[in-house]
This record gives sequence, C-alpha cells and structure tokens, in this order.
Amino acid sequence: MIEVFNATVVYGGNSQRLEAVRNVSFNVAAAEVFGLVGESGCGKSTLLRAIAGALPLARGRIALADRDVGLHRTREERRLVQMVFQDPYASLNPTHTIDKILAEPLAIQKIKAIDERVSQALAEVGLGLEHRYRYPHQISGGQRQRVAIARALIMQPGILLLDEPTSALDLSVQAEILNLLKRVGRSRTLTMLMVSHNLAVIAHMCTRIAVMYEGEIVEMLEVERLRRGEANHPYTQRLLTASLDGAAAA
Ligand code: ADP
Ligand code: MG
Repeated sequence: MIEVFNATVVYGGNSQRLEAVRNVSFNVAAAEVFGLVGESGCGKSTLLRAIAGALPLARGRIALADRDVGLHRTREERRLVQMVFQDPYASLNPTHTIDKILAEPLAIQKIKAIDERVSQALAEVGLGLEHRYRYPHQISGGQRQRVAIARALIMQPGILLLDEPTSALDLSVQAEILNLLKRVGRSRTLTMLMVSHNLAVIAHMCTRIAVMYEGEIVEMLEVERLRRGEANHPYTQRLLTASLDGAAAA
C-alpha cells in the first residue's frame, strides 16, 4: 500500500542544505500497522510529510496503492492519505466549531451528505453529539485528538499517517486514543504508518518497525523480535535499554 524507494528529502540550499531524509526505502502492506521510531530530529516527520505530499523528494520515488505519486496530487490521491499530528490543539482551527472542522474537508472535496457524515464520524471516535458545536478549547486534549482522528477518517482514507499521535496526551488518555486507533484501523482495514519515540506504544500497535537515525533507516524488524530484545543495530539496542529503564522507573 505504501512503497518508498530511495527517498531523499532536502531542506535549504548551499550552506544551509540538509538531507533530512536520505535514501530511505521500505514497504507497508495493505492493512499493516508499521512503526517508525528514532530520536528527535532524525527525520520522521519529514518522511511522513513527503509521503503525504507536503514536501518534494530530491531523489527516489513514492507509490501509494500501486500508483506513483508526486508533490502534485489529484483529489483522489489527496483523499487516500490522511495525517494525524502530535498536537491536536495546533492542528485544529481554534475559530471553527468541531462541526465546521469536520465539514470543511468534505466541502472542499465536494462530498455530499455532509451532515450525516459528520455525525457518523463523531460517533465512530466516541464523541457525543453534544460536542458538535463546541470549539476546540471547550473540549479536553483527548477529545481534541478524537476530533483530529475523525477529521482524517471522514475522508475515508486508505492510509493513515500518525505523527506521535499520543505523545502530547496524559498517560491514561494515551491508551484510550491508541485503542481507538487500533479499533478503527481494524474495522476499516486501514494501512497505518505510525511515528513514536515510545517503544511500548509501537509494540502495542505495530507488527513491524523501521528505526531511523540521522535521516536513514538503520534497521527494520518485527515487533516480536523487538520484544525478545533481538535488535542488531547499536542505536536500536540503546532505544531498547532506554525504554526498559523508563519502564522500570515508572
Ligand atoms: P523528527 O520528526 O524525527 O523529530 P524532523 O523530520 O522534524 O525530525 O526533522 C529532521 C531534521 O530536519 C532536523 O534536523 C530538523 O531540524 C530539520 N527540519 C525540519 N523541518 C525543517 C524545515 N522546515 N526547514 C529546515 N529544516 C527542517
Ligand atoms: Mg517529528
């Protein structure tokens, strides 16, 4: 469903030139939940933005649902991939009601039966209709992330890109959102690519992971092997040790 081949993404030019993602290749099968881990600044969000069509590739290619895609995408290609960001407060327009936030992308795509789709989307993410005409600041952080997920799902995408979708949330709320993502992913047979720096989150959600380090994928492994501590790359080993220490401290 997602094919990334030798993808390189560059910011700036001349002395400012930075290859934030370098020669990255991986595939994600239909309905698979694939994890992307690595420390802050290693290029995870850049890679997701390139897959979403928000950044150009300097080299390489990306295919989604067996079709090569570029920066300029058809309406259908844009609908296919939806993204959920870390901070729902920043990603939701504060001057729009939840109703408008959910209705707007449908209107842009000239989709009909907007009213019905909005109420269905709210129900799917477990938000009561009483929230429909509230503003983002009038609901909790977890509810805001539910709205962001509803806004992605309402487009009926095949692929969901999740950029640290729970790391801005309280621990108890994190689990609720992860379970929601797991449930809708299964019921809609979504292909998901999920960024997290939390290996416990990744292990809960994913079947396979890629480990990024300084713009490159340094290791790809099954979550089962991660659980058994069978990482090859020293950086993955360090991540594992750090997360075990974190779990022991918690
Ligand atoms: P991650 O999501 O893994 O934390 P990012 O993809 O956000 O990493 O960033 C990768 C690298 O690219 C970092 O060195 C970051 O400073 C740089 N970077 C990110 N966005 C921009 C931008 N818009 N312009 C220039 N450099 C950027
Ligand atoms: Mg990031």
